Amino acid sequence: MNPTTRRQFLKSLGLATLATGFPAIVTAATTRPHVIVIGGGFAGATAAKYLRHWSTAVDVTLIEANANYNSCILSNLVLNNQMNMSQITFNYNVLAQKYGIRVINDWVNGVDGNNQTVSLRGGTTLAYDRLIIAPGVQFLPVTGLDSNVIPHAWKAGVQTTLLQQQLAAMPNNGKFVMTIPAKPYRCPPGPYERACVVADYLKRNKPGATVTVLDANADIVAERETFNHAFTVTYAGIVNYVPNAVLTAVDSARKIAHTSLGDYTADVLNVIPPQSAGEIIHSTGLANVGGHWAGVNPLSYESTAVANIHVIGDSQGTGQPKAGHIANAEAKVCADAILRLLGGNPPFAAPVTNSACYSPISATTASWLTAAFAYDTVSRTMKIVPESSGEASAPSRQNYQRMFDWANNLFADTFA
Ligand SMILES: Cc1cc2nc3c(=O)[nH]c(=O)nc-3n(C[C@H](O)[C@H](O)[C@H](O)COP(=O)(O)OP(=O)(O)OC[C@H]3O[C@@H](n4cnc5c(N)ncnc54)[C@H](O)[C@@H]3O)c2cc1C
Repeated sequence: MNPTTRRQFLKSLGLATLATGFPAIVTAATTRPHVIVIGGGFAGATAAKYLRHWSTAVDVTLIEANANYNSCILSNLVLNNQMNMSQITFNYNVLAQKYGIRVINDWVNGVDGNNQTVSLRGGTTLAYDRLIIAPGVQFLPVTGLDSNVIPHAWKAGVQTTLLQQQLAAMPNNGKFVMTIPAKPYRCPPGPYERACVVADYLKRNKPGATVTVLDANADIVAERETFNHAFTVTYAGIVNYVPNAVLTAVDSARKIAHTSLGDYTADVLNVIPPQSAGEIIHSTGLANVGGHWAGVNPLSYESTAVANIHVIGDSQGTGQPKAGHIANAEAKVCADAILRLLGGNPPFAAPVTNSACYSPISATTASWLTAAFAYDTVSRTMKIVPESSGEASAPSRQNYQRMFDWANNLFADTFA
């Protein structure tokens, strides 16, 4: 379609802003609005799916670096051999075949917000009418840290397997030491859940072994009562929880964590580094919240820095937790808003999102946490809804079983 005809078409849909930003480079000529999604995690894959689920009038391209996606959710259960990686690995075949999403496995090198184009490492440049960026987090550097030796296992995959192997090889009476970065970081209860799962594994398999949790935060960040009880009662004598321990450097060869409270030597050292929005958020000039996260309008997740670009998932800076369940919810709000905007209408004015985490406490019990957020018209932010938020009174076997129902629903809602 030539540019003039396309402008007329877009104008007829009420897409005035798109008409002014007609891209200079178009590799796939199309007569229909084109939405590109960068990142095929819980946020991006859900957004791509629901755009096409709710409208066949848009073309959707999903660009994801990897052919397979390893879920962080449930990945702590790989560490204690309750699951294996293949059970939490997904691909994009259903999104492509059932929903007609064009899936490209490549790395996005750059975004040109003025010309509305995306450049891929493979050399292709694609034009978009609306762009969703959902790249998750990147890790900030830690002096001396070699993640090939000292795994973070905070992006699931080879890192998870490496940590699992290190735990399996750990001696009796060995020391597992883990570090937690200052918030905000991906999955607020996740590190404490990991401490419990590892403590349970060591209790059963490595007599005399201990878990030291070096937390940069002043207190347990999520499910405080549950984890405090687990650390001081369930795993008394095994878990040593140390608040206000800020990691300053790592000796990767000798497995030493240098912290503001002293040095801790480990047999297995698990460093979860401080985090920031994915690289592409920074290079596109979107990280305008504290220099780390992308400011967005929570009605549409459109960036407050660059028009026609939306940011969802861990990279967004609305203050909502960085978690997969709520990333899936944000994706639906964003997809709905984009379809409304493409039709010349404003986004829905009262979006609600919710977050849920089941936290395994042992190989048979789990706890849970949920929080709902609603758009506040005065502050124009997402505010927690206390009456719809809460946590389990105690870990239970029933919660452990329900955890798999919850996760399977989320996986299906994202990838199938
Ligand atoms: C141990 C652990 C347990 C967790 N448990 C829970 C839980 O119980 N409940 C819950 O809700 N959340 C949980 N989480 C958090 C959850 O995994 C994350 O919040 C979620 O994955 C964020 O989704 P996302 O789509 O924003 O990012 P990601 O899932 O990280 O997806 C981002 C994708 O973007 C791709 N990408 C990045 N940059 C580019 C680029 N330039 N070009 C192409 N592709 C790119 C990446 O390859 C990646 O696939 C847990 C996390 C951990 C570590």
